[in-house]
Amino acid sequence: MKKAILLPRKFIQGRGVAAEVGGLAASFGTKAVVLWGQKARAAVNEAVLSSLAAAGVEVVELAFCGETTKAEAQRVADAAQGAAVVIAAGGGKCIDAAKGGAIFAKLPFIVLPTVASNDAPTSACTVWYDEAGVCIGFDLWPVNPDYILVDTDVIAAAPVRLFKAGIGDALATWYEADINRQSRAVTCSGGVATLTALALAKLSRDIIFEHGLKAIADVEANVVTPAVNAVVEATTLLSGVGWESGGLATAHALANAFPALPETHGLFHGEKVSFGLVAQLCIDDDIDPDLVEDTVAFLVQAGLPVCFADMGIEGVSADRLLAFATDTAGEGSFTGNHPREITGRDLYDALVSADVLGKRIKAELA
Ligand SMILES: [Zn+2]
Repeated sequence: MKKAILLPRKFIQGRGVAAEVGGLAASFGTKAVVLWGQKARAAVNEAVLSSLAAAGVEVVELAFCGETTKAEAQRVADAAQGAAVVIAAGGGKCIDAAKGGAIFAKLPFIVLPTVASNDAPTSACTVWYDEAGVCIGFDLWPVNPDYILVDTDVIAAAPVRLFKAGIGDALATWYEADINRQSRAVTCSGGVATLTALALAKLSRDIIFEHGLKAIADVEANVVTPAVNAVVEATTLLSGVGWESGGLATAHALANAFPALPETHGLFHGEKVSFGLVAQLCIDDDIDPDLVEDTVAFLVQAGLPVCFADMGIEGVSADRLLAFATDTAGEGSFTGNHPREITGRDLYDALVSADVLGKRIKAELA
């Protein structure tokens, strides 16, 4: 049985660390391509451009097209001819596109996430979409990003809904990794989960339980506190390494499949993971019932989706839901990582059971 873990070279988190990008980029050479969207550019361009200029690094700026398409990654790679490093500033889609571009161009890669809503920054994966925004698969690259700069001033200034979505994504990490531990499934790392990945996933969950609600309140007030610092580390570094080398299960099988139900289109990835986790808790034979109650109660208090109404799918017919569950549990699904077979009917039952559970706990806490 082979074990493996994927890790980024260096992770840096703190106030104003975006301004460290120049020195890191200059360690690779004197020309950089920067991919960023409009909002990300507005948030960090002063720090990034002045830091690169001060380090003597010439910059080619590219405006992110808005979708992680292979064409967008190729555009980054083409622009990077003669450059020494690719830099991405933005959300998960922009980071994933630039990551693909850096790999195509065989260049090192620096990430500046401007929101803490997802696990893209530390990951060696790119999740691909077509021009219409439909997920068409993913590539697992041989290396992780070289440097990750998480500027907490920038994260705390971003919309709190994105911060909460990151909490939903990161909370699920341990529950999914634990399924993979039970089944000894091979993860993205190419081996079964290391004790290190499992410990990081558990630490992510524990930090979120301990500091998550305080951190949400603080980000709502646009301030950086010890709670925000702890939770940002959990949602970016710990969850990022934890999912990639710990493994995924039903929560992400559902989150990735929900786009097949157009009613869920307005939701962020981490929000879909939140309800996916509630469903996973309803399909897991070995989970402690008290932990199920505590987990769902936390999600309710964090304002994350726990029932059909929260997901916008209250009106979906039983037939449609069963067809969705059957597709989701099909060949190659992350549901296959569970230690027992999960059929479409099992998953349908878990979804309905999750709705009942979520509604009850929501009512109790109201
Ligand atoms: Zn995720």
